Amino acid sequence: MAMDLEDRYGAHNYHPLPVVLAKGQGVFMWDVEGKKYFDFLSAYSAVNQGHCHPKIIQAMIDQASTLELTSRAFYNNVLGVYEKFVTEYFGYQRVLPMNTGAEGDETALKLTRKWAYKVKGIKENQAKIICCENNFHGRTISVVSMSTDPQARNDFGPFTPGFIIIPYNDLKALEKALEDPNVAGFLVEPIQGEAGVFVSDEGYLKKAYDMCKGKNVLFIADEVQTGIARTGKLLACDWEGVRPDILILGKALSGGLYPISAVLADDAIMLVIKPGEHGSTFGGNPIASRVAIAALEVIRDEKLAENAYNMGVIFRRELEKMKSPMVELVRGKGLLNAAVIKPVNGKTAWDVCLKMRDNGLLAKPTHNHIIRFAPPLVINEAQVKEAVEIIHISLKSFE
Ligand SMILES: *Cc1c(COP(=O)(O)O)cnc(C)c1O
Repeated sequence: MAMDLEDRYGAHNYHPLPVVLAKGQGVFMWDVEGKKYFDFLSAYSAVNQGHCHPKIIQAMIDQASTLELTSRAFYNNVLGVYEKFVTEYFGYQRVLPMNTGAEGDETALKLTRKWAYKVKGIKENQAKIICCENNFHGRTISVVSMSTDPQARNDFGPFTPGFIIIPYNDLKALEKALEDPNVAGFLVEPIQGEAGVFVSDEGYLKKAYDMCKGKNVLFIADEVQTGIARTGKLLACDWEGVRPDILILGKALSGGLYPISAVLADDAIMLVIKPGEHGSTFGGNPIASRVAIAALEVIRDEKLAENAYNMGVIFRRELEKMKSPMVELVRGKGLLNAAVIKPVNGKTAWDVCLKMRDNGLLAKPTHNHIIRFAPPLVINEAQVKEAVEIIHISLKSFE
């Protein structure tokens, strides 16, 4: 019924796994018939804090029933409190609040271009931004102009110019691209999430950062998926001690309750944008501000980065122990992991996901042969082991 309605009245821009969810709590979701599932997607890492976290919900209810939206035409009594909180939390001088991850990336692109002209001294309309093959930064026209995925691009041209696309995890290619004096920024995901959880070589981010500094180029990290404790540290860049010039956050910034994104930077970059030059009706609204504070407090108070690290070690160890012929490779950091699936008897990653659904665990293939495993970060050891057992039984059924 719910599936028929979506199919009949909705745009067909997604291909969901056939399961109709009706309730969520912590690491679990329930379907309309009351069947319980482990959530191993966490809404693409938006629900790091676990479903329906009581503290975040309370913040949302309190604010929603007090003052919901003023627009930025006026000041409100919550935004400044949030801005102070979030900048101190991540160690930046300023924040620009938006709603979706794609808008966060768009904001970073605009900031970088404006900085190129006002500060770096690049000639008008000449600024270029380096990005990486197989990136995922969202779905707007400018953002898909950076994409190399035919599904994201085909028939959506003409595209925004000014991007140089280089292979990910390739310092030589970066060095060469940086020779162009019109380059203003390098935009990168510390781990490529949508591409299938591609973890760059150790030292890549640090070296890339240093190379950018050598050329007065901004290092821009899209941590929409990797940030906020997902990989076992607050930011994935923390693994290499890199502090991005521009940091983009989204998804778990609200714990899944609300679309909230943020771009963080210091004065020299952020203040190039003047009143009227960029914004959003809903960006920085009072509900979003209160929800984001609560969501970040939960990450800190419940030590979710530490838990993601510890549970990730156990998860990968247990998954590798299975020695399933269908699992070619397990990779990831913290609780952002993926298994590369080798089809057996014509059964693919999609079939594995259907079987895991039958057995009580929800995950989704990305790029046909990769399954991402990213549960809420509140998962405990017994739950990790139970979940791995479900994955094990599901894979075994195809042997
Ligand atoms: C999900 C994602 C985005 C886009 O976020 P939306 O809220 O869907 O616009 C951008 N960058 C990365 C790395 C993402 O994973």
